[in-house]
Amino acid sequence: MQTGMGRGRTGFLTEEEKADRPKITRAFLLRILSYLAPYWKQMLLVLLAILAATVLRLLPSILAGRIIDEGLIGRDLNALVFLIALSVGVTLLANLVGLLESYLNTWVSEQISFDMRNRMFRHLQGMSQRFFTANQQGDLITRMTSDIGGVQQTISGTFTGILSNVLTLVVAAAAMFRKNWILALVGLVIVPLFALPTRRAGKTRWTLTREAQESQDEINGILSETLSVSGQLLVKLFGREAHEEGRYEEANRRMVRLNIRQSMAGRWFRVVLNTFSSIGPMLVYLIGGFLMIRKGADLTVGDITVLVTLLGRMYGPMNSLLNMQVDWIRSMALFTRIFEYFDLPQEVRNAPDAVTPRTTRGELVYDQVDFAYEPQRQILKDVSFSLPAGRTVAIVGPSGAGKSTIIHLLLRLYDVSGGAIRLDGVDIRRLDLAYLRRNIGLVTQDTYLFNGTIRENLQYAAPEADDARLEEACRKANIHDFIVGLPQGYDTQVGNRGMKLSGGEKQRLSIARVLLKDPAIVVFDEATSSLDSIAESLIQQAVGPMLARRTSIVIAHRLSTVLAADEILVLQDGRVVQRGTHAELLAGGGLYARLYETQFGAAEETRPPAGQPEPQKNGRRPDERETG
Ligand code: ATP
Repeated sequence: MQTGMGRGRTGFLTEEEKADRPKITRAFLLRILSYLAPYWKQMLLVLLAILAATVLRLLPSILAGRIIDEGLIGRDLNALVFLIALSVGVTLLANLVGLLESYLNTWVSEQISFDMRNRMFRHLQGMSQRFFTANQQGDLITRMTSDIGGVQQTISGTFTGILSNVLTLVVAAAAMFRKNWILALVGLVIVPLFALPTRRAGKTRWTLTREAQESQDEINGILSETLSVSGQLLVKLFGREAHEEGRYEEANRRMVRLNIRQSMAGRWFRVVLNTFSSIGPMLVYLIGGFLMIRKGADLTVGDITVLVTLLGRMYGPMNSLLNMQVDWIRSMALFTRIFEYFDLPQEVRNAPDAVTPRTTRGELVYDQVDFAYEPQRQILKDVSFSLPAGRTVAIVGPSGAGKSTIIHLLLRLYDVSGGAIRLDGVDIRRLDLAYLRRNIGLVTQDTYLFNGTIRENLQYAAPEADDARLEEACRKANIHDFIVGLPQGYDTQVGNRGMKLSGGEKQRLSIARVLLKDPAIVVFDEATSSLDSIAESLIQQAVGPMLARRTSIVIAHRLSTVLAADEILVLQDGRVVQRGTHAELLAGGGLYARLYETQFGAAEETRPPAGQPEPQKNGRRPDERETG
């Protein structure tokens, strides 16, 4: 987690920020179309509905001419009533068609964003750990919520808006030309003027929109950093409340300023537009009147009224279309951002010819494994060891030596950069990923529980397990008595990331989870934090059944664990510098002997002094006291 000033915004947005506008290519548009394609039938219906509604909405304007000429000037009451009734009927029909259109439209756009959201979620699930360590949660959430939410708006608003406005313009212009081409030209001559100030206003609004988006990302980042459990803890621990409040307030203020500027941008431009739009009709009256009065043209008052009304009906769509330039660019930017995410390669993925063996023995081989999280910085170098099925290897070494990394590679959170890891003789990169991970149980220092009940957390490992199985696992993991002692028992909420449980309880719960999963291989990253001897022994008792008969890799911090291992690897700077049993290594001196003095020796001191009750030693070897 990064907190405080100078928070680097990560990779994927920066590229987009640099580019002033999204590049719209044929391939890009085709790609958008590919999302719309499955719904082409419904979209065709939307199109027809828009067309019908557009024509129907313009009809009353055309009928107005006849109302004036035949009804009012011709003093024909029957015609007047009939034409008015017709107008009202047509308007009603237009609105009903409009209703159908908006239903279809919403349906289609919701389906498309539904598809997109699912696809994005699936894609992100497949991203490697590298991606999640490099990207801020806030950015990911924005991508999933507001960006994909924006797609729905784009399709139901922008796309159909453009379509319906263009149709209105075309139909109205056609009707005007049919009435009188000279007056139609007069009315439309001022149209190009509309386009004049748009470019600038569009650009300003686009820049503001982008800044607002960045600002929103920043706010989301701050929120997800500081309002998370670990973030809050950090803030409280270092007394940074005031600092975080200031940081949030500043981002919030920037957002408000941008929102106001964004909403005011182009207002003056609207003043110009409004003035233009009142000049048009005046010109039509003037020239129409001149033609009618002086030239005796075949024009009626009704005709001129129709032309003026139609012209009036055109300004709205014209205005919207010009404003839509920004919506359009914004939509394209939205798709660009979404596609960028879709295009991120899934680094660790199932091989096309992935195999799923029927049985698993659990024999592990690390064969000259090299690894680097980032180029230039080699973390593991030439790590080799073999672990026959059912055996235990303990890895010890100073902090940062690469112990956890060895485990990340086994789980394929990352792939090796050199060498290979083999399970039962098959390179794990050739194994089906789900198969591989199904066969590995993991208990780390950071115990991952989600916000739910104890039962739900347990069932995450074995959804089909009944209460009897859950209980059996919890008994073995030494946590059953604790659970039933809670007022809500197995239905107790564990809180965010299990915060309502103690470290030792969480560990035993996660051991129970591994027992439920019943994998062939267990990876156990022993807690470095010193628990009291009772908690310690409760865990030790639970570890016994977990490791029994399973191939195990243990990152060991306690003497008892090291003693129980078949082989000990001493890791330093990503290399295996020593290997052997405790006795051999101790006799050999070197790093292991030093670690023994500092780390394991200290662990010994936490044992209760003579005379006090000894913790139970199940799961430990009988010889451990003598050797330690
Ligand atoms: P500890 O006992 O303190 O947990 P470790 O032996 O498990 O340490 P690793 O977590 O494997 O050490 O880390 C080995 C090295 O890799 C460290 O120097 C660390 O800085 C680096 N490292 C770990 N994770 C990443 C990552 N996601 N990106 C870049 N470097 C990393």
